[in-house]
This record gives sequence, C-alpha cells and structure tokens, in this order.
Amino acid sequence: MSYSGLVFENRFLHALPADEIVQNYGRQVHGALYSMVSPTPVSAPSTIIVSDELAEQIGFSSEFCRSQQFASVFAGNALLPGMSPYASRYGGHQFGHWAGQLGDGRAINLGEVALSSGGHLTLQLKGAGPTPYSRGADGRAVLRSSIREFLCSEAMHHLGVPTTRALSLVLSGDTVVRDMFYNGNAQEEPGAIVCRTAPSFTRFGHFQLCAFKGEKELLQRLLDYTLEADFPHLQAMLLQGGYTRQEVYLQWFDEVCRRTIDMIVEWMRVGFVHGVMNTDNMSILGLTMDYGPYGWVDNYDPDWTPNTTDAEMRRYRFGQQSAVAQWNLWQLANALLPVLHEAAPLEKILRDSAVYYEEQWRVMLARKLGLNAFDDAVDEGLISGLNRVLQLHEIDMTIFYRMLASFNPYQAEARLADVILPAFYRPEELAEEVIAEINAWGALYAERLCRDGMSPEQRCAQMNAVNPKYVLRNYMAQQVIDQAHMGDYSLLHELYALLRNPYDEQPGLTHHAEKRPDWARHKAGCSMLSCSS
Ligand code: AMP
Ligand code: MG
Repeated sequence: MSYSGLVFENRFLHALPADEIVQNYGRQVHGALYSMVSPTPVSAPSTIIVSDELAEQIGFSSEFCRSQQFASVFAGNALLPGMSPYASRYGGHQFGHWAGQLGDGRAINLGEVALSSGGHLTLQLKGAGPTPYSRGADGRAVLRSSIREFLCSEAMHHLGVPTTRALSLVLSGDTVVRDMFYNGNAQEEPGAIVCRTAPSFTRFGHFQLCAFKGEKELLQRLLDYTLEADFPHLQAMLLQGGYTRQEVYLQWFDEVCRRTIDMIVEWMRVGFVHGVMNTDNMSILGLTMDYGPYGWVDNYDPDWTPNTTDAEMRRYRFGQQSAVAQWNLWQLANALLPVLHEAAPLEKILRDSAVYYEEQWRVMLARKLGLNAFDDAVDEGLISGLNRVLQLHEIDMTIFYRMLASFNPYQAEARLADVILPAFYRPEELAEEVIAEINAWGALYAERLCRDGMSPEQRCAQMNAVNPKYVLRNYMAQQVIDQAHMGDYSLLHELYALLRNPYDEQPGLTHHAEKRPDWARHKAGCSMLSCSS
C-alpha cells in the first residue's frame, strides 16, 4: 500500500561501526558511533498532526498518514519494512564545559529513506523511550515540548531558515512526570512523540567525542562517511583527484563554518533565540536542531534569552549567538586536529568565518531595510543608530521591520515614530525625547533610501520577502499547548496553516501578527522556559 515504494538505505549503519552490546541499558560506548535499540511501545498512540507536504515527499499517501498503522509506527510501536532503529553516540560542550558522552538519550533513528526526488532523509523519533545514552532519564518527551518542536521547526522551514523538520506529532496515551521549573513541583503530563527528519543528524559532538576518546581511526571514518553521505560534491573532488585529502577536509570545515554562520544570520533576521547552543545541538549541515527552550524576540533586546536555566550567565542570549557559534566551531576544529594535524589552516578558516559573519549580517540587514546593498562608508552609522533606536523603548522587532516597508522616504512630513506606532509596547509611556530620536533616525534612513533609489514598490516587495508578518511568538505556542491539554487541537492546526506562509498578509488572521499581550509578559511558557521537556 501507501508506502510500498519506500527504500530505506540506512547508510550510517552500513558505513560505520556499531556498539557490540545490543541490550538496552545505560553505558559508556567505545569504538562505535551508534547502538541498535528499539523504541519502547506506548499504550495508545493517536496522531495529532502530520506535515502532509513532507509525508508526500517521503512517499506516504494521505490515507496511510491517517491510518492507525501510521500512529503505531510514529509512536514507536511498529516498524515498516527496512527500518532499523538505532541511537547514535555523541558528546558535547554544555554551557562551555565538556560534558563527555551524551548521545541520543531519547531520540531513536528509524532509518534513512532514499527520496524519489533525490537525496535522503533520516526519520527520527524524539521521546521514543530509553536508549543506552539516556543517563538514567526516561527517554520520553512531554506534549508541550513536542508541540513546540513540531510547530517551530515547520515554521522555521517556511521562513526559509535551515532546519530539521517534523513529519508527525503523535500522542502516546501515557503520562510523563516532569518538574517544569526544577522547584520540587513534579507533575504528570501527557507524553508525545515527534518524528523529525533531516538529511543528516550528525552533530559537532559526534566528532568531538571520537577525538576526546582518542579514537582517531573512528574520527577519520566518520569524516569520510560525512563527505560521502552529506557533502557528495566534496567527495567528488577527492575522487576526481587533483586535491589532497587534507585539502578536501579543510574545504569541508570551511563549508561547515559557512553553513553554521548562514544559519545564525537567519536566526538574527527572524528574531529566533535557540536557547541551548551546546555543541551537541549543532548540526554539521548548519540546520537548526533540538528545539528546547527556544524563543522569539518580541521587544527587541539583544540580551534576552528564553532559557531560565541560562538566566544568570545569558550565554545563549539573542545577540550572542554568532559569538557562540564561532566558539562552537573552534571546538569542532579542535576535534578535527587529530586527522588534520595542522592547526594553522583551521585557525585561518575560523578567522575568515568571523569576517564572513560580519559580511553576511550586513547583507541581511540591508535586505531588511530595503536597501540595494550595504554601503560600508555610510551604513555603519545607520546601523548603530538603528540598534540604539530599537532599544530606546520596548519595540516589537517583527512589527517594526514589517511596518518599515510602509515608510515613505519621499514624503517630507513622514515621521517614523507614527509609521511604527503598532510596534511600541506601552505607547502611552513613550517619552517626547524618544519620539524625537526615532524620528531623527527616520530622517537619516529616508535620506539613505532616496539615495539608494529603489522604487517604493520594489522596496516594499523586497522587505516583505525577508521581514515576516507572522512568527511563532512564545505566547502563541503556549496558547496551543493550553488548548491541547484540554484535548483541543484547533489552534495547532490554525497556526500550522498560518505559519506556512509567514510573509503573506493573510487577511482575517492578522490578530496573530499582533505584539505580545501584556498578560504574557512574565507568564511561564510565554517568556521563560526551562530545559525540562
Ligand atoms: P538537550 O538539552 O535536549 O539537547 O539534551 C541533552 C542530552 O540529554 C541529550 O543527550 C539528550 O538525549 C538527553 N536527554 C534529554 N532529555 C532526556 C530524557 N527525558 N531522557 C533521556 N535522555 C534525555
Ligand atoms: Mg540536544
């Protein structure tokens, strides 16, 4: 039926060594990149939502997606022919400290599908029960965090941000005990399982753990496998000859750096804060992954982090994300040293990537501001002025940029503060000096736009294609969760549909584009989140 054409290639399994132990108990794994482990069945799987488009791409019919068999498979109660479940081994730096072996503690890869359109997708269940990497935890995930992952990863995809995706969200029928704020108030919550997909789930931490354990041959095998499976154009360079192996490895590292930086620039563009940028959460393909206590910037604040676990240090705050990404890339470079031997070329790539970030960040800002290009001679001042203006008063980042497209630089009397009025939080508290300063920056911006010379229509179209109208505001995700806890998934479906077209106006749904309501300012789940999930 419905999935008969599906081909599972499972290249990771064929190419790389497995843990020799097959029993499922927590342990340190040596000399292997994964352990074979089956999902632990749940009591009553029921499908809540499926990404039809992704299902179709994989080769699942809509009839199959609605079947009980689908719910069983994507809750971990059954396997399709060709699936071969395993959990992978990786390590990582958590909040700046080496944490040793981590691994897929609650993620279980079902298999890798060869797509009929070309390329591959690995299907991975999150919350499918314990694995050898669970470190004493239950391997499960609660409904609230699963909704957040499903909705946000799909929203990011439709915003054009590189990300893992979500195929399905299935309710397990079992409860999971969590202490949401680690304050002794443990509660039973509904359990759920997301099936997420990516061309590869390889993380910086996979390389790091091999290097840390002195497993040089395994490190090299992982690197060679990664070239073959995930960077075939680099593998082709090797096969064609003319390049040394070392040169191709360096080229690969350069590409990982660029992809990582491209991803961060996109986060900065849309106002996304990952919240837990540990090296085990960094994808070698530069995909946003492991959606935990992430958040969306409402009022523009580079110091904001949604993660209560990081509230003190704010290591992973919005404005720090590029610096952290670069720190993480240094850790990856360290891990590659055993096979690359020389530090100097890696250091050069790292330094170049810091420059690359600055360049790409400017290109992105120029697009957000509706300019043809960033002009180094004058725009540095414009940007620092903008950064100041955005923090003079609480200003909603998403609404600010969206409204900016309707600012007419040719109208001498146009006052920017009037144009962006809907973006102000507590407009009644706006001070006259603040309004004056915003308008003064607006005058500079108008002058710059006039010199740039793009037609207003063209500018508006360019800006609306990079400044989303709709993002998954933190309180919106929480409203979906509150409803879902009462068995109502209508808002989930509504937002899922809305966020598929985040740049379109979508009349009738504009209440989802409004700034965060006041009640959500300090509410748990709306402005602060813990890692408990
Ligand atoms: P995270 O902070 O979600 O990136 O997780 C860090 C590590 O903890 C990873 O190795 C996860 O697999 C593991 N982990 C998180 N939650 C659980 C859980 N409920 N059961 C088992 N392992 C978990
Ligand atoms: Mg993680």
